[in-house]
Amino acid sequence: MTTDEIERLAADLKELPDGLDTPDQLLFATLRELYGNFRSGYVDRERAKREKSRIYVAYYELKNQYAIMEQHLGIRRRLQNNIGDVYQCGCENCRKLLNVLVGIDREDVPTDTKEANATIERLRELVKERSERNAVLATTIDRVRWALEKNDIERAREIINENQHKKLNDPQG
Ligand SMILES: [Zn+2]
Repeated sequence: MTTDEIERLAADLKELPDGLDTPDQLLFATLRELYGNFRSGYVDRERAKREKSRIYVAYYELKNQYAIMEQHLGIRRRLQNNIGDVYQCGCENCRKLLNVLVGIDREDVPTDTKEANATIERLRELVKERSERNAVLATTIDRVRWALEKNDIERAREIINENQHKKLNDPQG
């Protein structure tokens, strides 16, 4: 549906049409309110004109951001189908890629995240060394990575701390 079609329906104070994306729905709702207020005489013609052009500026901005977001979500969905192999691999290139995906390649990343990632690498080494604890540690790594992927740094630290306490309380570990 074009913006002209959306505006025509809004001007006729019609019901929100099906199948619009979020920015189009907002455009429709905002224009319909403006037209309604104009018709009722609450808003005069000059003010309605000014507001309408501001509504359109905001709409095109939002529409642009929405398109970028959709594009990123699409990339993420496609990556999720292949990410298991990257986790498993553990080579330098895959680690770099994971860091980019999780966002810890940036300069402004909190030290917490860098520490968490370093801990993941230590845990990975432990997995290699201690076969009897493989399953537990592998699960911990998966959980920490999952938390980091969700940008939940607090949760990642909790999981790491839990694991470290377990080790302290388990002299065999
Ligand atoms: Zn690799």
